[in-house]
Amino acid sequence: MKIAFIGLGIMGKPMAKNLLKAGHELTVYDNNADAINELVDAGATGSESSTEAAKGKEVIVTMLPNSPHVKAALLGEGGAVEGAEKGATVIDMSSIAPLASREIAYELAKLGVNYLDAPVSGGEPKAVEGTLAVMVGGDKTLFDKYESVISAMASSVTYVGEVGAGNVTKLANQVIVALNIAAMSEALVLAKKAGVDPRSVYQAIRGGLAGSTVLDAKAPMVLERNFEPGFRIDLHIKDLCNAMDTSHGVGSQLPLTSQVLEMMYSLREDGHGSCDHDALALYYEKLTNTQIAE
Ligand code: NAD
Repeated sequence: MKIAFIGLGIMGKPMAKNLLKAGHELTVYDNNADAINELVDAGATGSESSTEAAKGKEVIVTMLPNSPHVKAALLGEGGAVEGAEKGATVIDMSSIAPLASREIAYELAKLGVNYLDAPVSGGEPKAVEGTLAVMVGGDKTLFDKYESVISAMASSVTYVGEVGAGNVTKLANQVIVALNIAAMSEALVLAKKAGVDPRSVYQAIRGGLAGSTVLDAKAPMVLERNFEPGFRIDLHIKDLCNAMDTSHGVGSQLPLTSQVLEMMYSLREDGHGSCDHDALALYYEKLTNTQIAE
């Protein structure tokens, strides 16, 4: 299938490579020319703009930081809609505000272009392996038609409801991940202060009820003092802000999330915005004047 792929960052690059491996014909665009060149070396065709990338493509995949970037790349000057044909389908795999997804779908529909919101979970390692979890919102018939395209990048693809439902699901995911990393950091600092080796604590609890995918992904990183992204604190702040807005908009509350969001703002002020979200451990280390591991 002829596919345009826009947004070749930490996640977009390996996802685009997996579409190539699955035999799709890919035209790529990113604001960063180096990222385009890397994909051209892997077999894709480069382009000068989102408009050019979208011309003559059945599917346009976007993997961009947040709502304004997706709106700019699709609907702005030089955006994909200027090149897209009627009947084309945008699969937006970025994590953005659910309300923005609905606004984008509305604008695209006026031009005869379809839209699915299909954010992902799993991070860079699973993007490379092609084993992401994808949560998809939009028309069910459209989902059925393009599920196999998404499956080239994922081991789990789940239809969750109308447009915006994908991003509501992703916000729920991000709340759970943020709170888990904060809880893990709080617990490992407690162990250290109480004189028990945090490595032993991790090994002892990972097979029990406290064990989780988050614990297994992030505790080893913290114990090795590895704060390289992965998933940047700045992007998690974006997700939790979208979660807060969405929550208040529907009359819900996120008391724990708001606390972890404040911790992340504090980390950004300390210069850790580009660190992995496992840097929540650094917040607790500063608070308690201790270090979880040497
Ligand atoms: P990133 O910052 O590494 O990549 C974003 C890319 O978009 C960059 O290459 C940038 O140059 C490009 N870009 C920005 N605006 C553009 C525009 N208007 N036109 C063309 N290109 C543009 O981000 P990422 O980590 O790859 O994340 C992408 C999305 O996936 C985000 O919404 C993020 O929340 C989500 N996500 C990330 C992870 C992760 O672990 N990194 C995991 C799950 C979901």
